Amino acid sequence: MRIALVAAEVFPFAKTGGLADVCGALPAALENLGHEVIVIMPYYRCVGPQQAFNERALTATIGRNVRVFFLIHKEFFNRAGLYGTRTGDYPDNLDRFSFFCHQALAFLKELGTPFDIVHCHEWQTGLLPVLLKEQGGQDSFFARTRTVFTIHNLAYQGLFPAEQFAKLGVGQELFNDRQLEFYGKINLMKAGIVCSDYVTTVSPQYAREIQTQDFGCWLEGVLKSRRDRLTGILNGLDYSHWDPLTDGYLEPKYDGQVMSAKHVHKARLQEELGLEVLPDIPVFGFVGRLCYQKGLDLLESAFEELMRRPVQLVFQGRGEDKYQNMLLRLAKWSPQKCGVSIRYDERAAHRIYAGSDFFLMPSIYEPCGLTQMISLRYGAIPVTSHVGGLVDTVTDIASETGHGNGIVMSTYSVAGLLEAVDRAVGMYYQQERMQAFVRHGMSCRWTWEAAARRYVECYETCLQSA
Ligand code: ADP
Repeated sequence: MRIALVAAEVFPFAKTGGLADVCGALPAALENLGHEVIVIMPYYRCVGPQQAFNERALTATIGRNVRVFFLIHKEFFNRAGLYGTRTGDYPDNLDRFSFFCHQALAFLKELGTPFDIVHCHEWQTGLLPVLLKEQGGQDSFFARTRTVFTIHNLAYQGLFPAEQFAKLGVGQELFNDRQLEFYGKINLMKAGIVCSDYVTTVSPQYAREIQTQDFGCWLEGVLKSRRDRLTGILNGLDYSHWDPLTDGYLEPKYDGQVMSAKHVHKARLQEELGLEVLPDIPVFGFVGRLCYQKGLDLLESAFEELMRRPVQLVFQGRGEDKYQNMLLRLAKWSPQKCGVSIRYDERAAHRIYAGSDFFLMPSIYEPCGLTQMISLRYGAIPVTSHVGGLVDTVTDIASETGHGNGIVMSTYSVAGLLEAVDRAVGMYYQQERMQAFVRHGMSCRWTWEAAARRYVECYETCLQSA
């Protein structure tokens, strides 16, 4: 199969969250299954040298032989951020990503041999299935190409004022409530959902949740109407990158002698964040985008109570000013027990996974979540809410299945969070039990190979109707 993956961020070139991890790992996994894969993404300032903005095209390689093609547009993409600044989105995001989709299509044609599948990710690529549907009818080059659209986070839909519709370069008749219109606005996520041949999202549980009012972000009806072509495929984790035994950011590396190595990393982490360097207090880590989704409001409400317990908290993240300021305030209240680092830093993130005993993830919703998988691999037991991909990956250690790998809040409330933390602390002081769970957690695997096989099944279903 010839597959083109199109996305706005791909690790290691540009990353703001899990989307990049997925788009960096899936192509190589598909290639390993014997498919021919290319990737198309914008060339941003963070990708490489500035001079490249004067080039016409640039390529790189991931996996064994996956070509990554960067589309270049100096005015649109030579900026500090991918989608905006701290104060908000870039006002011309519709122009930027409309350009990207049109260019991607033109580029596919330039390559000369048709693709079987164009796999689009998130709202930034939502226009592409629309263009392909329109062109597929008119241009024999695209007639047999099928599109798959993956939702990574339904809360970010790419909403724009109706007056900008002409910028999309598609027929005005598509601006109706069954297609691109959404409460008087343009909705690019909806465009991708209604115009693609198959819709996927990043966990089975999230696929169910987004068809309900609680999680559907007003698109539940649209999603339900596509339920025979909607499925949840759990993300894998790239274990060649996330491996404490080979991790270039860690010394000592570890797999077998977990506890002694983790002690070293913990002491270093405590020192780096200005906490009291105590070996016998459980450290709860957090790495993530600082936004509503990640449950920071609940952590704030529970903070005073948390600080009465024998725990230390370590936060690393970047995001909304509101949450950045809140975390800095909490750290100021309890500098010896709460360390905060407001930044995006890969190396420091690896050190938090390695140095923490537990990993906090009280998300309000969580499409898949990679950080619970990462923390498990690094021997930090996740303490989570019970939503989305967390349901598919974290089982409570008290569950009767005997496969428990984390601590799951019984309710989404301050009491639920405190109860989960108390259970974590209790377990921490039962060293043998703790070690057994750490070892079990480190052995859990969600491979990209398994996920890629599921994507191939979707691609095949699409092609059967070609
Ligand atoms: P989301 O996609 O909602 O941001 P995920 O859990 O799916 O969350 O993926 C988050 C990814 O981004 C992980 O690889 C995590 O390590 C990384 N990450 C998030 N924030 C930071 C940060 N401040 N510094 C370094 N890495 C981060």
